[in-house]
Amino acid sequence: MDSMTFVLFGATGDLAKRKIYPALYNLFLDRKLPQSFSVIGLGRRALGDEVFQGNVEQSLREFSRRSVFDPSDLSAFISAFRYVPLDVTNPDDYRKLLQVVEKREQELNIPQNRMFYLSVAPEFFDTISLNINESGLGTGSGWKRLIIEKPFGHDLQSAQELNEKLSKAFQEEEIYRIDHYLGKPMVQNLEALVFANPVIGALWNNRHIANVQITASETVGVEERAGYYDQSGAIRDMFQNHMLQVLMMAAMNRPSRLNATEIREQKRSVLASLRDLPKSEVAGSIVRGQYGAGVVGGKEVPAYRDEPGIGASSLNDTFVAARLWIDEPQWEGVPFYIRTGKRIGAKSTRVVVEFKNTARDLYMTRNESTTPNLLVIEIGPNERVSFFLNGKDALNDGQIGTLNVDYSANLSNVPEAYERLIHDALRGDSTFFAHWNEVELAWKWVQPVLEAFQENQVPLQFYPAGSNGPEAADKLLAENGFKWWLDE
Ligand code: NAD
Repeated sequence: MDSMTFVLFGATGDLAKRKIYPALYNLFLDRKLPQSFSVIGLGRRALGDEVFQGNVEQSLREFSRRSVFDPSDLSAFISAFRYVPLDVTNPDDYRKLLQVVEKREQELNIPQNRMFYLSVAPEFFDTISLNINESGLGTGSGWKRLIIEKPFGHDLQSAQELNEKLSKAFQEEEIYRIDHYLGKPMVQNLEALVFANPVIGALWNNRHIANVQITASETVGVEERAGYYDQSGAIRDMFQNHMLQVLMMAAMNRPSRLNATEIREQKRSVLASLRDLPKSEVAGSIVRGQYGAGVVGGKEVPAYRDEPGIGASSLNDTFVAARLWIDEPQWEGVPFYIRTGKRIGAKSTRVVVEFKNTARDLYMTRNESTTPNLLVIEIGPNERVSFFLNGKDALNDGQIGTLNVDYSANLSNVPEAYERLIHDALRGDSTFFAHWNEVELAWKWVQPVLEAFQENQVPLQFYPAGSNGPEAADKLLAENGFKWWLDE
């Protein structure tokens, strides 16, 4: 792996502390960082290198998945860190930063490969990339790459404007847009489940599949994020990015090769084939919900509107359910349902594939009922793949019952999403990052939904905290003769 300098904007922030330092440290222990590297942390506060290094160490002790700290590993790692105070809007600060970066490159005798990680508020993305360009930081003799976090824009237009500004300083191939769902092992595994198993691949079409259900439910409410979340809602916070990424991974066609270009092209093609949902039809295919008071995990919790920082008449969506159609021959007539919400009774991220029940009539002749076969891919909190089949139940007179073929992975101490993704970016592998084409198509599809919500054309359905969301989400499936599987 190429030696490089990791330039981290937002080095005193929450994400750096909880995710980025622990990720870098675990990569270091796994010998997945280059032999020589330096990390330059940037933040508004004035800090000395030693205090900064102490803060980094503290964050490892608090958040690293490995909790044993060998003093020599720790000091070798920490000694790579330097701190530069920088105001993102001040061009002089970038020139000072360039001096520190170059000095470190000379000290370590490494090429001018620079990884810029923007762990700061998105309104700074364009200023920072412009200044990287103008200061000379981005015109070294090695490679340069940019890692950015969501949210990527607030709607279609703002995303396009942001992309235009970023692309003045970075080529698309140099931009790594993190969607941490793409770092989850079971999301990555969707590709292998379908394409490495002819048995499943053969069934992956509308001849055999009745519908696909993608769920991401959380038990938590808005927590401390009222300011952000009340402007964003489930549609921007979860649906436009994570949920559509899972949809793309589940529905993509077989790539001709397993590389970033081919896989991302197949994913793009899923979104390009999504049937448009004009604003006038949003209410018929999308359910917009908000949690009321209720009981979650045995505890009484307040309604969304009574949460600190949320207005008493907020119309924000804490739940979204949607029915989507992919206009490709393979998926003709197969509805894809997506739902995501806060303050649901159980935390679960999963894909349930319901197969057509062509055995029903045969077994009805003996008055036995078969259940549709299900393939359940649990993405979190546990990683699991289950097939729900029918079989004779010897404990029940040989009647047809459910036979569950279950694979459960114990992934309690495997690399976290941020470790995998940072490692991929350092290697220059963009497979599991969101390409601009995907992001733009996702916003294009979502834009009429945003407008319909904004204009209050979709009724806001209240659901009690601790439930499975509004009843309207059940009706959405019932209209096609289906139901959500595995709700608790
Ligand atoms: P934070 O508020 O904790 O940290 C912000 C950082 O930005 C600090 O280091 C601060 O010094 C720096 N900063 C702010 N204004 C600055 C300025 N004018 N000049 C220089 N530096 C400045 O934020 P965070 O939670 O670490 O989130 C960072 C980014 O990651 C955001 O874009 C957020 O949307 C995104 N994100 C965060 C999480 C998370 O779990 N925290 C998850 C996904 C995405």
